[in-house]
Amino acid sequence: MSISIPVTPVTGDAELPEQVEVVVIGGGIVGTMTALTLAERGIPVALCEKGVIGGEQSGRNWGWVRQIGRDMAELPLAIASREMWRGMNARIGAETGYRETGIAYAFHSEAEGAPWIKWRETARAHGFDTRQLSAREAAAAFPGMNPAKPLAGAILCDSDGRAEPWLATPAMAEAARRAGARVLTNCAVRTVETSAGRVSGVVTERGRIGCSQVVLAGGAWSRLFAGNLGIDFPQLQVLGTAARVTGVEGLGETAFGARKIAFRRRLDGDYTIALRSANLTPILPDNFVLMREYLPSLLGSWRDLSLRFGMSFFEDLRRPRHWAGDRVTAFETCRTLDPAPHLPNIRKAMAQLAEAFTPFASAKLVTAWAGVMDVTPDSVAVVSPIATVPGFFIASGCSGHGFGVGPALGEMAADLVMGRRPAVDPEPLSIRRLRPALA
Ligand SMILES: Cc1cc2nc3c(=O)[nH]c(=O)nc-3n(C[C@H](O)[C@H](O)[C@H](O)COP(=O)(O)OP(=O)(O)OC[C@H]3O[C@@H](n4cnc5c(N)ncnc54)[C@H](O)[C@@H]3O)c2cc1C
Repeated sequence: MSISIPVTPVTGDAELPEQVEVVVIGGGIVGTMTALTLAERGIPVALCEKGVIGGEQSGRNWGWVRQIGRDMAELPLAIASREMWRGMNARIGAETGYRETGIAYAFHSEAEGAPWIKWRETARAHGFDTRQLSAREAAAAFPGMNPAKPLAGAILCDSDGRAEPWLATPAMAEAARRAGARVLTNCAVRTVETSAGRVSGVVTERGRIGCSQVVLAGGAWSRLFAGNLGIDFPQLQVLGTAARVTGVEGLGETAFGARKIAFRRRLDGDYTIALRSANLTPILPDNFVLMREYLPSLLGSWRDLSLRFGMSFFEDLRRPRHWAGDRVTAFETCRTLDPAPHLPNIRKAMAQLAEAFTPFASAKLVTAWAGVMDVTPDSVAVVSPIATVPGFFIASGCSGHGFGVGPALGEMAADLVMGRRPAVDPEPLSIRRLRPALA
């Protein structure tokens, strides 16, 4: 089945291993980096992906590798991840597209800039500095800006960067295989087996793999998968649309975000653009169950979210919540979440970009796509052992910003599985803060 994004194909291994030490579920950036790290350390590991490597969020994002704007719980992780991105091409012997060209958030008024300036001060108190640009400095920093739409200022993080989503995760998976990981594509994991009260294997659509540890890095599917094991992992699905445009000359290299627009230069010279704060959330039965928990973020950082009612409500309602390993599951009937992009938002983004930056007046749309983000109640990822199922770990819930921190999240998951102390304190990412009974 073809999908709407040009992610580099990875051919999976033909043979299913009988036994490994660790099975990682999900070939997005988090699962792939977990498998790569474990394989590099000599741990027998299998990476199971129900569709194609990087086929969901990890191949569909904007490609921003950012520290700027991070929740303080994730900032040390973002800094560690930046270091990993710096050495990634050499580590995996392939091009990820990583370039450290900076990311800026710009504002048109003092009121619009206030949260950014506050964030900058908080980050400084945590030892992380960014630059604050005056109106004049911002005008000089972003060539091509329409002088009739002047900025009031910007916050710029020079050590932020960008990478190419359709290149990075497949290249990491190939490196994992060269390091000894088994990489299995079109291989949905249906469920986890336990014996004597702990993980003893997984049941995949192609048969059983024995293992003593499982890492669930299933992106937007993690809640459904974990629910079958009696684990209530809170996740909301949010739909984001982005597009590639061509024919734009004369902009700088720095990725740019303002209240309504975002763009960054790509390795192929085109631009990935989006309308900021224009995400949609499909109304699903689960939303009602979780609504109270999500209310603060729906009124705060996700306040621009639009709710959309559609057929997915009924599909989700019909979906079984509990199943055994001998039946076809939703992970096989939907190989890849490949939703239709919201084209009115792309048209709006193009119009607003053309108004703000004259080089965008000649932009031509090449393609648009959408992706389903997995959002936790506090918009911070979870990397954590799950106490109720010994040997089972969750590394998921990246909340729309897991591409940049994916390498560090994968390393943290590998450390926890191996009983090592991660370089970055894992406690802020523990499940404890959301579900104390699972910690
Ligand atoms: C439009 C958009 C823009 C974004 N922009 C940015 C950005 O600029 N910067 C940034 O840092 N982040 C960004 N993000 C978020 C980022 O892409 C995600 O947080 C990150 O890719 C999540 O990685 P993951 O590995 O957790 O999940 P995914 O990439 O979604 O991977 C999960 C994988 O698990 C597989 N899977 C699930 N269940 C099973 C099963 N039972 N068996 C086998 N396989 C299974 C799925 O098929 C999927 O491939 C954006 C996301 C979107 C959608």
